[in-house]
Amino acid sequence: MSAGGTGRPGAVKKITSFSNPLIKDIKALVGQRKHRQRTGRFVAEGLKLATDALAAGWTIDMLVLGPEALESDAARETAARARARGATILEVSTAVLAAVTRRDNPQMVVGVYEQKFLAPEAVAQDPQGVWVALDHVRDPGNLGTILRTADAVGARGLLLIGETTDPFAVEAVRATMGSIFHVPMTRMSREAFRALVKKWPGTVVGTHLKGSTDYRTIPYARPTLLLMGNEQAGLPDEMAETCTHLARIPQVGQADSLNLAVATAVMLYEIRRDDLSLT
Ligand code: SAM
Repeated sequence: MSAGGTGRPGAVKKITSFSNPLIKDIKALVGQRKHRQRTGRFVAEGLKLATDALAAGWTIDMLVLGPEALESDAARETAARARARGATILEVSTAVLAAVTRRDNPQMVVGVYEQKFLAPEAVAQDPQGVWVALDHVRDPGNLGTILRTADAVGARGLLLIGETTDPFAVEAVRATMGSIFHVPMTRMSREAFRALVKKWPGTVVGTHLKGSTDYRTIPYARPTLLLMGNEQAGLPDEMAETCTHLARIPQVGQADSLNLAVATAVMLYEIRRDDLSLT
C-alpha cells in the first residue's frame, strides 16, 4: 500500500501480472465489502472522478493507468498531482485494468481512495439544511442514485441507518457519477437516529405508502430530515412513529409503489422547491 498523504511522492510501478499483490488488493476492494471495511479504502473508476477527488481533498491511495491514460495529457497531469500527494501510480495493460474492474471496456483510469464518514455527532451539532436518512436500504444502485440526487439538490448529507448497504461498493460509487466525493455521509443505528430525531429542531418527514399526508402539503421547516424506507419492507412502525409527518406521493396506476430512488428524488425536489432555480 502506498502512504497517501505523507508528503512524499508515491512510487510508479509497471504491472503486467494479474497475480501482483497490488492488483489482487484492488480486486478484493471491488469484490469484497469486508476488505473495504478492513482497509477503509474503495475503488472509483474514471479520470473525472480522480480529478474531482483531488480537488475535494480526498486521499488517493493508488491510481491505476491503462495504456490510453499514458497517452492523455489530462490523465498524466492528474496522475502527477496524485503522486505528488503520495499516491502510488500503477501502469497496467488494458487486460489487467479490465480484470481489476470486471469490465470488458474499462475506464482508462481507476483510483483507490480512502473512505470518509462524518462522525454522527456532527449532524446533531449542526443540523442545518436538508438531510436524507436511509433505513436499511439494500440496493447499491439505489443508494448511489440517491447520493447523486442529494448532491444535485444541495442536500447537506446522508444518514445511513442500520444495515444499509455499503456506499463504497463499486455499483454504488458508479451510480453516484462522482457525487460520492461531494456529499457527506454518516452511519448510525436506529436507536441513535431516534435520539437525533428527539432533538431535531425542524421537520422530520418519513415516507410511507400508508402516509395520510400528501407530500405537497407539508410545510418543510428547516432543518429538514427526510426518512426513506427499505425497498421491500418500507419503514417499520418504530421508525415511522419518530417522524413529525408521514408523507405519501399519490399514485393512480397499478404500481404498488415507486422505486426508492425515484421517490427520494420526488421528495427532495419538493422539499427544495423554493430554493432551486435555473438562474
Ligand atoms: N412494500 C414496501 C412498503 O410497503 O412500504 C414498498 C417500499 S418502496 C419500494 C421503498 C420506499 O420508497 C418506501 O419505504 C418509501 O420510503 C418510498 N416510497 C415509494 N413509493 C412511495 C409513495 N408513493 N409514497 C411515499 N413513499 C414512497
